[in-house]
Amino acid sequence: MMVVGLTGGIGSGKTTVAGFFKKLDIPVYIADEAGKRLMANSLKIREEIISIFGESSYSGNTPQRKFIASKVFSDERLLDKLNRIIHPAVEEDFKLWLQRQNTAYVIYEAAILFEKGGYKKCDLNILVTAPLELRIKRLQKRDNSSRDEIQQRMDNQWSDEKKSQLADFIINNEDLADTKLQVEHIHFEILKAGKNS
Ligand code: ATP
Repeated sequence: MMVVGLTGGIGSGKTTVAGFFKKLDIPVYIADEAGKRLMANSLKIREEIISIFGESSYSGNTPQRKFIASKVFSDERLLDKLNRIIHPAVEEDFKLWLQRQNTAYVIYEAAILFEKGGYKKCDLNILVTAPLELRIKRLQKRDNSSRDEIQQRMDNQWSDEKKSQLADFIINNEDLADTKLQVEHIHFEILKAGKNS
């Protein structure tokens, strides 16, 4: 089965685009959600995180995401350690999930697909883009976050120009109806690519 990576900077509309694939009956795996779920449910992950970040990183079984985020925010080494706990677990979880699917392809949505090299494990990759100002407006509205916060998060991600070079398909997500059409077009291109491989 083909695995199609789906990514895009914050506020570009990855989840919105993933929703259009779901409407075409394509299963979508959201890596960031799986990571959150595993942090909350996996005893092994809980132990590993507490051993690095201390008891304050969990309250009972609930990961203290803000606390952990504040620790990794300014310390790349800690962020790396956290990723080395979460990423293999997500990968394992994805493999199990994949075995249960039976469509021509599935979508693997991840925020940092290109940055962390995950795209190499996908057969094809889709990048969702939107103009910067529009992304900032969407995030201000959705999360009530400040321009500074948004800018900081964007600074940790690659630019669209850099990501475009590695993408097989690029979706420009401005007008929703147009985005839906682009998804439908790509859906058929992916099915065609699957038949020819
Ligand atoms: P993040 O990485 O921050 O989770 P994302 O890339 O998954 O973001 P979405 O959550 O899909 O982005 O979109 C961000 C916000 O913008 C949402 O509130 C969504 O409803 C809105 N949005 C997305 N695409 C459009 C569009 N084409 N027109 C209007 N609003 C949109």
